[in-house]
Amino acid sequence: MINQNWLERYRLGIYYLVAIDGTELYRFSERHCQNCLYQKINDQRQYFHRVLEAKIVTSNGLAISLATEFIENKEDKEFDKQDCELKAFYRLEKKIKKLFPRLKICLLLDALYANANVIRICKENDWKYIITFKEGNLKTVWEDFNGLFVNRETAIGAKITLPEINYKETMYRWINEIEYSGYKINILAKYFNQELVRAFITNLKIDENNLFKIETHGQLRWKIENQGFDCQKNHGYNLEHLYTKNPNGIKVVYLLIQIAHIINQLFLKADILKVCSNALSTKALSIKYIFSKILDGILLGWINEFELIFKKLDNRKFQLRFNTS
Ligand SMILES: [Zn+2]
Repeated sequence: MINQNWLERYRLGIYYLVAIDGTELYRFSERHCQNCLYQKINDQRQYFHRVLEAKIVTSNGLAISLATEFIENKEDKEFDKQDCELKAFYRLEKKIKKLFPRLKICLLLDALYANANVIRICKENDWKYIITFKEGNLKTVWEDFNGLFVNRETAIGAKITLPEINYKETMYRWINEIEYSGYKINILAKYFNQELVRAFITNLKIDENNLFKIETHGQLRWKIENQGFDCQKNHGYNLEHLYTKNPNGIKVVYLLIQIAHIINQLFLKADILKVCSNALSTKALSIKYIFSKILDGILLGWINEFELIFKKLDNRKFQLRFNTS
């Protein structure tokens, strides 16, 4: 999809938006395998498995799995030495860099990732980032940011003009290049009636022309939760259903669901039905018909008309047109 430039128009400038988020897959009252994570709830240990996912997200609702990292203990660990989302991120970023070394990426991350290590990794990988910024994260950066707007008077009483936009009760403030741990960080904050609504830190330079873009794209992070995990859990994929207790089988099922979800999104969001119908020179095909043919194809070893479709698709180098809503 990247090579065919199908997703090009959904980039932020030249950057593909990659949202990273974790979710829980299974929970057990007894130890399920040696890699289980655990926590104590009401004196009872509960065992669970989590996964960290990197997905390309787009404004029209696509959430395409780019790389996966399972969050699991390598052996029975002390409670506070367990694997966690941040540790998994440091493995996942290496995986993404290895799989897509030259891909222009802008990471969309939640407040958990607002730290110097993540900022360093983005710099080393030549990635952009937009990280949700909450009060309490990077304390000195907040102090510097708020301090600038509070103390706007110079020694002789003149007012310093700072980047600020007001629309009725809504206000945006931003500052580029605040120092933190040897890095320069840009901050964008949105207020309503003087109350902070949301804020982001980013290494994209903020100005009054792109701040809405940075805000709306920063918000795309929730797509991985809604179009990604929620869809896979509650709308037909049964992501949390325990198809197998086999620890490796669990991972295989997870990855197969990611592939199935990608294929389904292509059918739902693109005009692939028309492309298939045209390739077969038949009347309009239904999704159900195509999926039944795909299943036949898999079971029969691709010896059917679907093989023809894929051959034709392959030759055509066709451009997919995605629906915009
Ligand atoms: Zn387990």
